[in-house]
Amino acid sequence: MQKSLDKNSQMECPRHGDQRPAFICRHLQHGEELGFHQPDAPPMADWPFQNAWCDKCDRVLMQEGEWNERSEGFADIIAICEGCFEEVKQRNIKKL
Ligand SMILES: [Zn+2]
Ligand SMILES: [Zn+2]
Repeated sequence: MQKSLDKNSQMECPRHGDQRPAFICRHLQHGEELGFHQPDAPPMADWPFQNAWCDKCDRVLMQEGEWNERSEGFADIIAICEGCFEEVKQRNIKKL
């Protein structure tokens, strides 16, 4: 992940304006109902960014046991704004 950001980092979204960045796997970006997984641990003070990944990435993560080269390579994490993150979340959470 892009740890060169600091906790006050912002990005400018063409639709939502200045926002904090959030991180998702590439599959979620345009996907629908792919599942939406977030870390169990709350965001840390020095890394307060949201992140999420889909069912497929979660399976790779379970196999690998951690975020490593393989699981991160599969997820191919991208940065989006927090507004977009909410939209992606609504679109990818599986409806019961
Ligand atoms: Zn994914
Ligand atoms: Zn946005």
